[in-house]
Amino acid sequence: MAKKTDVLIVGTGAAGLFCALHFSEQTQVLMITKEEADKSDSYLAQGGMCMLRDEEDYEQYFEDTMRAGHYENNKSSVEVMIRSSGDMVQELIGYGVDFNRNGKELAFTREGGHSRPRILFHEDVTGREITSTLLENAKKQKNITILEHTTMLDIIADDNNCYGIIVQDIDGGISAVQAKYTVFACGGLGGLFQHSTNFRHITGDAVAIAKCHDIELEHVDYIQIHPTTLYSEKPGRRFLISESVRGEGAILLNKNKERFCDELLPRDIVTAEIKKQMKKDNMPYVWLSMEKIPKEEIESHFPNILRQCLEEGYDPTKEYIPVVPAQHYFMGGIKVNLFSRTSMNYLYAIGETACNGVHGKNRLASNSLLESIVFAKRAADKIMEEIAQTEFAEIDGMVSLEKYQDVGKLKAEYRKIILEEIERERKSHE
Ligand SMILES: Cc1cc2nc3c(=O)[nH]c(=O)nc-3n(C[C@H](O)[C@H](O)[C@H](O)COP(=O)(O)OP(=O)(O)OC[C@H]3O[C@@H](n4cnc5c(N)ncnc54)[C@H](O)[C@@H]3O)c2cc1C
Repeated sequence: MAKKTDVLIVGTGAAGLFCALHFSEQTQVLMITKEEADKSDSYLAQGGMCMLRDEEDYEQYFEDTMRAGHYENNKSSVEVMIRSSGDMVQELIGYGVDFNRNGKELAFTREGGHSRPRILFHEDVTGREITSTLLENAKKQKNITILEHTTMLDIIADDNNCYGIIVQDIDGGISAVQAKYTVFACGGLGGLFQHSTNFRHITGDAVAIAKCHDIELEHVDYIQIHPTTLYSEKPGRRFLISESVRGEGAILLNKNKERFCDELLPRDIVTAEIKKQMKKDNMPYVWLSMEKIPKEEIESHFPNILRQCLEEGYDPTKEYIPVVPAQHYFMGGIKVNLFSRTSMNYLYAIGETACNGVHGKNRLASNSLLESIVFAKRAADKIMEEIAQTEFAEIDGMVSLEKYQDVGKLKAEYRKIILEEIERERKSHE
């Protein structure tokens, strides 16, 4: 007999947690995650989360998002995201999220591509502040259960309906979990890349599974490279030097310590400039100078970055640090509508795994945490509207666990499927 839950959420990042918190107490929600619940890219977000500060900024915020996205964004998604931001911020504060303030007023910073400061932050660990607060709240809810070290291997699907998933648990056991509704909140795919700011276990599994079941995907080749990660020869995740460091005055220098571009242009343009300069200089990195930022500002606004640089042997209050572009974010993904519904019935996708078109071809800095929570709530609200009329289906005969015995082989297959899909899409755009 398969385990049963009303709603099953795959992923405990900001998107998954915010979604889980929006179901009624009578709705049983099961969340699973590949590692510990706090090992998600949402925790790593440094710079902050955007917010529409006042009506006067609407046109400009909309335009900044569209311009960064090369005007390929879905305008309705952008509008929904921006218009929802004030309510989302109030909800987060209600859960206990502590954003930096100037006196009693919320403080705002600026990042590349933004025409004015509109980014809320908590020092340089905004993602940790938001996600750990959501996790604490979720753990208090009796209707939410979180299973760590539990990996989704596949979905249970028939006739374009999703009835749950196949999981591997912490002891290696494989079983079926039946759900009335399944929500993918699996993050991006940086773990597939040699140089990435993402956790290594975030490998686009939901996208590969969607491809295998003919669920519609969109812009799988739209992958953002962040211009500034700390250069290191060590293997593993690359440490991000947040864009807000440049927003506060840091500049990029070539090997002769000369400035070579406007640091506050959108990410893809700054990345291209850095790569060009590295080639010209025949160097594996360029320099970032924080000279213009007062030492106290570095210590108070960027303590995490300062600590990490010191650990790597660089003191940014006294010297330049070497930076290099690395894979950072996935703008494409599983195609969803404005309520985060995929092309398969009873299956939703939210956060970085999903593509509602909000980011177009290139994400504007600090729009992803906001997008994740706005569309996570919309998914939960939609499911709540329908769940009373939805019965558990009869799934006997749909599941054969034998084919999941070689998990290593399955993961390798998924990896191949995604990389081929990225290449195919990329070629189709040439
Ligand atoms: C270093 C860094 C800095 C960033 N800074 C910012 C910022 O300042 N502002 C901003 O807006 N955005 C920022 N982002 C982006 C933002 O953090 C993420 O895009 C966003 O939080 C994604 O949230 P998510 O919930 O969709 O996914 P994630 O937070 O990545 O969570 C994915 C979850 O899915 C689980 N999972 C994946 N596959 C499986 C599987 N097969 N089975 C079970 N569980 C699975 C994972 O274990 C994890 O729990 C940053 C990202 C990084 C990496």
